[in-house]
Amino acid sequence: MAQIRVEALDKSFGDFHAVKAASFTVEDGEFLCLLGPSGCGKTTTLRMIAGLELPTAGTIRLDGEDVTMNRASARDIAFVFQLFALYPHMNVRRNIGFPLKCEGIGAAESDRRVVEAARTLRISHLLDRPVSGLAGGDRQRVALGRAIVRKPKCFLMDEPLGALDTEMREAMIRELRALHDRLQATTVYVTHDQLEAMAMADMIAVMNNGIVEQVASPRDIYDRPASLFVADFIGSPPMNFLPFRGSLQAGAQAIRLGERDVAIPAARQALPESDLVLGVRPEHVRFTDRGAVRGEVYGSEYLGTTQIVIVTTRYGALKARSPASVSFRTGENVGLDFRPDTLSIFDKESGRAIR
Ligand code: ATP
Repeated sequence: MAQIRVEALDKSFGDFHAVKAASFTVEDGEFLCLLGPSGCGKTTTLRMIAGLELPTAGTIRLDGEDVTMNRASARDIAFVFQLFALYPHMNVRRNIGFPLKCEGIGAAESDRRVVEAARTLRISHLLDRPVSGLAGGDRQRVALGRAIVRKPKCFLMDEPLGALDTEMREAMIRELRALHDRLQATTVYVTHDQLEAMAMADMIAVMNNGIVEQVASPRDIYDRPASLFVADFIGSPPMNFLPFRGSLQAGAQAIRLGERDVAIPAARQALPESDLVLGVRPEHVRFTDRGAVRGEVYGSEYLGTTQIVIVTTRYGALKARSPASVSFRTGENVGLDFRPDTLSIFDKESGRAIR
């Protein structure tokens, strides 16, 4: 397989700057998700890696080799679109074998590889069926078969599960990850669905407005978001944000929030007085009488084992996850505290995390 290195990749369509200096590396055998809202430049980035779109600036390297200007066909990359990209008049066997036919590979070798791909995807029993009658998940397996049969250096996938219903999608998420574990193929996977990315990826590159905001493991993206955008985009319900004005000394272990000190993990850098934002995930808000923030219960959303309690405070409505067994009265006065090791602090102007 192969390492993909994207360096300062830029793409403009006329005056529109769709991808801005995107840089990331997908290590050999790694599964990286490009994650972000619609229109943030994910597909354009993927198409540039595939060679379907030429960058305005920047470099793409496959195993160290500069392929930026190479034609798509010279890149040895397989691109998996949504499941509709099958040839309806061909059966499963001929659909999977089609790329090999295009490459001029002989019938015996081609058939051997088709059978092997079908076995890997557990669709051997469907080989002689027409694709037109297949269910969504099986059609997607055939599309994947057509990608893996070529044994390419890497896979690029653009929302391959976008057209499936929720149940089928969850099953395919598990299958795709299992397939990846078996094949150990370097993969770049585009999605706007954070749960899909969290469940499948080794690494996630979060994009916003053409910019790669953070590249990290799913856990670090969740626990250590690098920007307000990432913190807000990942997590459901999203992180609470408490705006405040303050300064930090290097090594400080508390910040002044209103009249209270709130314990934080030791600050790595000093910061002059500025507008800051304290970020706390709903599951890290605790109810306590001596809480740093006081408020009034506005209501709660019941989720089965847990509930989301909405508390109106001077910092706006904050959400806290609490066991569903605890009851809260609307209008009840409560104190809120935060687990210090989980807190994020952002510079409001730049939106970047200070820790
Ligand atoms: P989606 O999930 O909606 O496809 P995306 O993050 O993949 O979103 P892109 O498809 O990469 O986003 O598009 C990024 C921006 O570039 C969008 O605003 C889109 O309209 C614009 N764009 C993409 N291709 C072209 C093109 N060929 N000509 C002009 N603008 C384009």
